[in-house]
Amino acid sequence: MKEILRLKDISKRFAKKIDVAAKFLNFFGANFDNQVVHAVDGVNLNFDQGQVVGLIGESGCGKSTLGRVVAGISEPSEGEIFYRGKEVKELIAENRQRQNAKIQMVFQDPMSSLNPRKRVMDTIGEAPVYHGQISKKDRQDYVETLLNQVGLDKEYAKRLPHQFSGGQRQRIGIARALAVRPEFLVCDEAVAALDVSIQAQILNLFMDLREKLDLTYLFISHDLGVVHHIADKIVIMYLGRVVESASKEELFSRPNHPYTDALLKDVPRIDRRNQKYFPIKGELPSPLDPPNGCHFHPRCPHAKSRCRIEAPSLKEIAPGRLSACHLNED
Ligand code: SF4
Repeated sequence: MKEILRLKDISKRFAKKIDVAAKFLNFFGANFDNQVVHAVDGVNLNFDQGQVVGLIGESGCGKSTLGRVVAGISEPSEGEIFYRGKEVKELIAENRQRQNAKIQMVFQDPMSSLNPRKRVMDTIGEAPVYHGQISKKDRQDYVETLLNQVGLDKEYAKRLPHQFSGGQRQRIGIARALAVRPEFLVCDEAVAALDVSIQAQILNLFMDLREKLDLTYLFISHDLGVVHHIADKIVIMYLGRVVESASKEELFSRPNHPYTDALLKDVPRIDRRNQKYFPIKGELPSPLDPPNGCHFHPRCPHAKSRCRIEAPSLKEIAPGRLSACHLNED
């Protein structure tokens, strides 16, 4: 398959400024400094055209930050992003409006991501007019076609967001993302706020759209069941770093990294009634003060002295399969 997007050594850092008390103590000679959060730390990833990549990790692991960097909402602190082989910064310099439209984002909470005072017609129809993709006079037909594509009645174009259910609002969010004819969708916990029956309908809609529009997805979720349903390739993140990446089949049948293994054992499954359920021990450490060496070592049942000192690098352990664990070398 042809590569559409590549992330090269992407890092995103945030500075947490010192509070008033620390500033006061600094005045008397203390030495408090701003703290740095490494939300995303040297991520390398590639996406093939038409692929669904599921990004999994616990809350606070940096997956949403990475999604925002991919969607162009947030600038990386370091690293490069290549779109169809060309660096995104160059493409944006060439044609800012059109390049920004190629990657769109679908958010978790459709209520807060839709303007409560805007009718659906404006919510969906504004951006394609702005980007010069349609004329104002074609807007109504265009919006009605998009509503139809996401399974909503064209009459809904006149309504406001509060007049819809959660599932319908998410369909409007998807129509808004599709309005600028993107090639790549970043879906950040896009079904997490919905009931299970509605989740299934929205996941099926994503799959239909992928077929019809040849879309590529980065599907961010904390829910392995959701990602199992939709993804071709799965990437596991832990405290800002990618720790394993593999095809869905391989990752679910033969997890390599101890964290992936722990995540899979952490989910009680109805089809494995007699198998024991092992919750992952401990809490995710603070990204303000991550453990040295392998970030997972305080929670890893296989940790050795080397793991406390040296961070394992992400290495190919089989064709198309990557893992970052010292156990693969020893
Ligand atoms: Fe566990 Fe060590 Fe592998 Fe990290 S590098 S996952 S601590 S065995």
